[in-house]
Amino acid sequence: MSGCELCVPADVIAENPLAYARYDSNPLCPGHVIVVPKRHVADFFEMTAAEQAALAPRQRGPKPAADRDQALQIARLTRDNDRLKNRLDKALFVIEVQKKVAALLGHPIDDSGETT
Ligand SMILES: [Zn+2]
Repeated sequence: MSGCELCVPADVIAENPLAYARYDSNPLCPGHVIVVPKRHVADFFEMTAAEQAALAPRQRGPKPAADRDQALQIARLTRDNDRLKNRLDKALFVIEVQKKVAALLGHPIDDSGETT
């Protein structure tokens, strides 16, 4: 059916003669996959028995794209962590400088931040 996003298979990650699987273009969570019959139908009950059977999983296999999403998330979190560690190091340096300046000015600061 023209104008039907699902009737134009894209980003296919698995298929059989009657159905294909793809990542959801509007996922509720990363890695969400949808399984779509290759023939345009209004709902599950409009499919033939063969089409319904074609949607069922046959075997479990590797999930390369899900692994890829997870790897991308790990890389992003690692970058965030490195950036935050760097900012923490800078902040700790500034605090040490402030303590030394305060001590030089005769108002030492203890580790709780209180002047002594
Ligand atoms: Zn369709």
